Amino acid sequence: MLSLVINPTKLQAEEGITPASKSQNGQYQNRVGDLNTGPPSVRAAFLMRRLGTMFRSGAGAAPLTDKPPTIDSFDSTDSIGRATWIGHATVLLQLPGLNLLTDPIWSSTPSPVPFLGPSRFVEPGLSLAELPSIDAVVISHNHYDHLDIPTLKSLARLNTKTQFLVPLGNEKTLLNAGITGVKGLNWGGSATVNGYEIVALPTQHWSKRSLRDTNRGLWSSWAVIGAEKRFYFAGDTGYFEGFKAIGRLYGPFDLAAVPIGAYEPAVMMKATHMNPEEAIAAARDVRAKQVLAIHYGTFDLSDEPLDEPPKRFRKAALAAGFEANQAWVLDIGGQQTF
Ligand code: ZN
Ligand code: ZN
Repeated sequence: MLSLVINPTKLQAEEGITPASKSQNGQYQNRVGDLNTGPPSVRAAFLMRRLGTMFRSGAGAAPLTDKPPTIDSFDSTDSIGRATWIGHATVLLQLPGLNLLTDPIWSSTPSPVPFLGPSRFVEPGLSLAELPSIDAVVISHNHYDHLDIPTLKSLARLNTKTQFLVPLGNEKTLLNAGITGVKGLNWGGSATVNGYEIVALPTQHWSKRSLRDTNRGLWSSWAVIGAEKRFYFAGDTGYFEGFKAIGRLYGPFDLAAVPIGAYEPAVMMKATHMNPEEAIAAARDVRAKQVLAIHYGTFDLSDEPLDEPPKRFRKAALAAGFEANQAWVLDIGGQQTF
């Protein structure tokens, strides 16, 4: 627990895990300042290709599991966790006394304009009705593939006590949709849910949901810290130095979920998304004992072949010293205990 740390605020400051700063025009900033998102010509060509792939087949997408899921909760005396990959960046994390979802999206199109949005190739691994009672939801940022209002409204209806933790500045997006139990946190801030300390931590990314709100809501990763188990959810991020500080202050983690897709074209993506090798480096930096690959194989978001990220992830994990059984490539709906 964080309370084991003698002076967490001082240590956070020493490690640079301090609140994100805002520019004069009210935009949150990355530690390294403005990010390079490639020349306009590359971005325009990318967008044209995206429209062209609206009817892409989905060959190479992540397979849907054929095993019936186990979702029963653990007793508070157990020292065990279970992760279920629902698809994309959505993970059902179950720890003794806690059921938590990361970036839940059950919609078929992550977009403000569904008919123009990227295709979903694989159905969610569990239906909303199959979920256990969810205690907490953590959101990494407001891009449509991570903050899905229809899903959040359904979750809020299923359990009125669910706590929705968002990076600062995103509260209104949920409140305006009638969702309650929302808490906004800056980097280094935390909330306690069922005895678990849930901490918002830096990432290197950006945000935008409409024409005029670029970087008005913060982006973050999340640590879930219990007496027995520690879990890290990296959200959506480029590789950056901050992972090492997160590892020193909050690691080692029993499991880290890291994004491994949406890295091509690299000239446009590298600052804001990791490739599989960078994702493994991040897992090492945060001192993850085991690492779960997410953010690939579900939606049609970027140029790399759909089946390339998990292959590179497995290879990079072995090269970095993980055993094969410590680097998890799950089917959608697949689960693993830890
Ligand atoms: Zn994003
Ligand atoms: Zn994303």
